[in-house]
Amino acid sequence: MNCDFDRVRGLLQRAKRVLFLTGTGVSAESQIPTFRGAATAFADGLTEDGLPFEEVLSSDTLQANPRLSWKHLFKLEQSIRGKLPNAAHQAMAALQTPGRSVFVATENIDELHQPAGSRNVFELHGNLRRIICTQCDYRVHLETFESLPKRPHCPQCQDILHPDVVLDGEPLSETVLAAFNDEQDRGFDLVFSVGTSLFLDVIQPVLAAARRGTPVVEINPEKTPVSEVADFRFAAPAGGRRVFQRVIQIAIQNSLIYANKSGPGGIAAGGGVLQRSMACRLV
Ligand SMILES: [Zn+2]
Repeated sequence: MNCDFDRVRGLLQRAKRVLFLTGTGVSAESQIPTFRGAATAFADGLTEDGLPFEEVLSSDTLQANPRLSWKHLFKLEQSIRGKLPNAAHQAMAALQTPGRSVFVATENIDELHQPAGSRNVFELHGNLRRIICTQCDYRVHLETFESLPKRPHCPQCQDILHPDVVLDGEPLSETVLAAFNDEQDRGFDLVFSVGTSLFLDVIQPVLAAARRGTPVVEINPEKTPVSEVADFRFAAPAGGRRVFQRVIQIAIQNSLIYANKSGPGGIAAGGGVLQRSMACRLV
């Protein structure tokens, strides 16, 4: 394991297929608290209703007490409302070129990769901005939940509405997994794990790539199971702002930016000139 940015740069320049696994550490740079932190009122892990977070946002509670689940879903929505992609989101999108496909598989539910310009995004845990009905085909994308009643019902069949996120006790989307598995079967030349937490469904693809001999880069201030297999590890702050500024630099230096100069915040806002020695001090 090392912090050789020049080697990562070389791998990036040659890579035709790159995968980023992203987690709450990426969202944190956009001032979004962790999924758990946004809805948990107390340090003991219980919500203000005295129930564990997982129980409040579970499939069973949504059915039995939808008003309670939705109360916390509204809090979650408030935590992502108006938030913009940051340098990390921008950098991943900027690395897409006609000769390089970039895939993002994320545990985040805030839909910040797409406005940054990423085209191939697998939302493993869903998307809080989408609302669905599990009894009929009703679905809607909402920028905010402001227009929703406290106990929202399907306008077509009156069943309680469901956020298009994976609640506790629910499986991941078969559709999303099938599409992601197809890309994994095709393989990647380079895999990044960025700010991921300990969700096994997010970590396992990285471990699988490492087993196949694919170079793995981890950007995370905390050690994770990925750390053990990573070829390169950057113990950067959550969101990897400094690391991703270097990645942006690589993209700029190689004239690889095609689509994202006008994204929220802009590449320039996330870029900037960094000292070369900074990379190794990150470790
Ligand atoms: Zn319905």
